[in-house]
Amino acid sequence: MGNKFYLTTAIDFSNGEPHVGHALEKVGADCIARYRRLRGDEVHYLMGMDEHAQSVIQAAARAGVSPRAWVDRMATTFADYWRRLECSNDDWIRTTEPRHVRSVTALLERIRERRPDDVFLAEYSGLYCTGCEEFKQDSQIADGHCIEHPTLDLVPTTERNHFFRLSAYRDPVLERIRAGTLRVEPAIRRNEVVRLLEDGLQDISISRLRQPWGIPFPGDPEQTVYVWFDALINYLSATGFPEEGHRRLWPADLHIVGKGITRFHCIIWPAMLLAAGVELPRMIWAHGYVQWEGAKLSKTAGTAVSLDTAINRHGPDALRYFLLREIGFENDGNFTWDRFDARYTSELADGYGNLASRILAMIGRYVGGRVPTSNERSPLDEEAELRIKGYRGFMDEQRLHEGAQETWNLIARANQYVEETAPWNLAKTKDTARLDAVLSSLARTLARITLLIQPFIPGKAQVVWHSLGLETTAAAARWPDLEKPQTGGKSVTRLTPLFPKPGTNIVSS
Ligand SMILES: [Zn+2]
Repeated sequence: MGNKFYLTTAIDFSNGEPHVGHALEKVGADCIARYRRLRGDEVHYLMGMDEHAQSVIQAAARAGVSPRAWVDRMATTFADYWRRLECSNDDWIRTTEPRHVRSVTALLERIRERRPDDVFLAEYSGLYCTGCEEFKQDSQIADGHCIEHPTLDLVPTTERNHFFRLSAYRDPVLERIRAGTLRVEPAIRRNEVVRLLEDGLQDISISRLRQPWGIPFPGDPEQTVYVWFDALINYLSATGFPEEGHRRLWPADLHIVGKGITRFHCIIWPAMLLAAGVELPRMIWAHGYVQWEGAKLSKTAGTAVSLDTAINRHGPDALRYFLLREIGFENDGNFTWDRFDARYTSELADGYGNLASRILAMIGRYVGGRVPTSNERSPLDEEAELRIKGYRGFMDEQRLHEGAQETWNLIARANQYVEETAPWNLAKTKDTARLDAVLSSLARTLARITLLIQPFIPGKAQVVWHSLGLETTAAAARWPDLEKPQTGGKSVTRLTPLFPKPGTNIVSS
């Protein structure tokens, strides 16, 4: 049994189609989940939908359907996109599910039981952003608008709400972040969160008055649980909380979120858990945003690039790869079609695709399609071992784009090795021992590259894995398969072009 690794993504509001920005987060988390499985971890990967937002009522009304019918439709739309993008999530949670409602109620009851003074009634007035579904503080407002939603108007709102005494948790949360028992990564986000905590915390409203769409506030049927307080608990609901068995998965090992919601995940969520006496998640990773020509990509900013168009351009694997390589999982990055096409051609078609078809074709042509069983260690094997080590170091730290770089360094070295050893000459001069050693090393290397690449481009990796004559699937392979690929003696098959270039005939000859 490997280590338990419970991984989550932010759950998305059910108020519109997903865009390329949502996709970055999901494929990044999926890349981590697949890498962790390769490493041998017992991965549990959760995705889902945040369905109690006020904006759902408005969107449903505009579409002329009930909120329930609307969220059902949205959940299907999102799930379909994530399936197309090959997300390998183990669970899919929706905040309208009974298991979640039970968990939210239980957590609130537990907080009131343990810390009766930490939930109290008070009057609240403020400016509410319907994009964020929260009251905004001065520091979150620029030019009279929410920083995250400059095109939406803030709504002045006053009501009597239940409050959570967030201010009491400043020091405990700050201590844990500083001590690293609650890791907030990357460092730039940790520093932002620490600054917020040092400035002090205000108590927060955690209920809404007479809002029919939401989870009833325990003991006060006039109120529903504030959508963010409700949504954060999804990570715990999916473990079966409050059942004792939830400890099989909890605490979460890694929450993946966007940089715009670190206050919720790194401050409010840990405070809620501390109040309830539940263990804190181990790490929160906050990624940057996808920008389109320098502008934040979100529906409300009106610059959406259709996710459908982006997937159809070069297929789902290419989009996954481009997002993780060009945009990365740390800072903001720019999405342009030019860069997408350039990376597709140079790194996927001419890089990995070309190497794979070359190696498989040479094995077909020079040794009758069966990988020689020679185990002689070549300079290429040495390079592979070095790159695998580097890859693991980066991937363990969620540095996906550097993990991909290590893989492409190995691809470049393998292409160079083909040139150096010139198997076509060895075949001509009938240098069988040398030819066997070279081709078996190339087959091993191709299998290794394919496993290193699988978290990024699972679909194409599986095609190559299968062409190498290897059993099971690349997704089911584990670390020993990477260290000692069992390619010797396998019968290979030819590849049709993995990454056809636009305008070329993709029918195989
Ligand atoms: Zn907002």
